[in-house]
Amino acid sequence: MNNLTKLIIKSPNIKSQYDYIIVGQGLAGTILHFQLLQRGKTCLVIDNNLEKNSSLVAAGMYNPIVFKRVTKGWNVDKYSPYLAPFYSKMENHLNTKLDFPINILRFFKTLEQQNDFFSKTEEEGFSQYLISESKAVTKDLPVKNEIGFGEITKTGWVNTVSLLTQYRNFLDSNGIILNEKFEFDNLVFSDKKVMYQGISAEKIIFCEGTFMENNPYFKYLPLVPTKGELFTIKVPGLEVDKILNKGFFCLPLGNDLFRVGATYNWKDLTYETTENGKSELLEKINSLLDCDFEIMDHQAGIRPTVRDRRPLIGLHPDFPSLGLFNGLGTKGVLIAPWLSNHFCDFLEDKSPLDKEYDLQRVKKRK
Ligand SMILES: Cc1cc2nc3c(=O)[nH]c(=O)nc-3n(C[C@H](O)[C@H](O)[C@H](O)COP(=O)(O)OP(=O)(O)OC[C@H]3O[C@@H](n4cnc5c(N)ncnc54)[C@H](O)[C@@H]3O)c2cc1C
Repeated sequence: MNNLTKLIIKSPNIKSQYDYIIVGQGLAGTILHFQLLQRGKTCLVIDNNLEKNSSLVAAGMYNPIVFKRVTKGWNVDKYSPYLAPFYSKMENHLNTKLDFPINILRFFKTLEQQNDFFSKTEEEGFSQYLISESKAVTKDLPVKNEIGFGEITKTGWVNTVSLLTQYRNFLDSNGIILNEKFEFDNLVFSDKKVMYQGISAEKIIFCEGTFMENNPYFKYLPLVPTKGELFTIKVPGLEVDKILNKGFFCLPLGNDLFRVGATYNWKDLTYETTENGKSELLEKINSLLDCDFEIMDHQAGIRPTVRDRRPLIGLHPDFPSLGLFNGLGTKGVLIAPWLSNHFCDFLEDKSPLDKEYDLQRVKKRK
């Protein structure tokens, strides 16, 4: 039994009183819960185990580079060093391998892309991410490699399905999760306390992903959900230990299986896979692979993206016992570890919330 487990079992008021209640056990709720536990806080999770959870569909990749003009992602120098030690702590806690650091091979479609990439390898601040002379061997790979490729490091993927299911087992076995839908009619609160079905806490933090649109207290915030579809394909003969990218990703999972995606759709916000999504993915694959493949699975999910592409975290402007940790968008795996730590510092009165993340940057109409 580790320290965190002992802490929960020892708490005498475990069933009626917590420091925090967290609603939602996607990537956001899971990581925030782990951070709070590490600080010795007691937290109850409420999650209805929806299959529509975006984190269970996600490819789970992290990549510090924005390929379009070969720039560094927003605040990536803050997030990137925090990532590996954080997931390693979670791996130890859950006794499960979660983080798979592997490089990306970026195949160029134009000479301009090639020039942009190689000129950046010389620039200060990029050398830790871009490999100037890649030693990767592609000549025996069944791929269409017209203009060459560059290699990016400090990239990889986190198995979000293992992360969420293993963490749920941990929550279940310690009796700190209610497997049910959170009902807003049952919430009673003052400035200092919340009460839900006879359970009290200092604060309740909502981590509902795109389901925030059903939250009467936070639905005024500008979430602009983005649907994404991806495939799992089988490609016998494509033996590669790097993520391939040619305007889309092809992520090796082992046993000849690859995750391929993703699409971006702001109009169709159903959770169904579509023929349009399928043909878009097939076109992408055919622009890269020069061999046969078989589609094993086709999935769709909805990313909780925000209009200004910044996360939405903080406390409600009128009701300070209600908090939010949301808006992880397309980069939850990279951002959530650092951001949850920053949020916990704020919740525990150690430091102010950085304004660029604070949900109070969005003015609430009275
Ligand atoms: C196709 C696709 C590919 C992606 N690829 C990547 C990638 O490669 N890398 C990356 O970093 N990100 C990726 N993402 C984005 C990533 O999925 C999100 O950033 C992240 O998972 C969001 O997590 P979340 O916890 O905010 O939301 P979710 O994972 O959706 O979790 C929300 C949870 O809240 C619960 N909930 C909501 N309302 C209630 C209620 N009233 N009562 C009880 N429970 C409730 C839901 O059941 C759900 O479990 C991808 C997304 C998609 C769709």
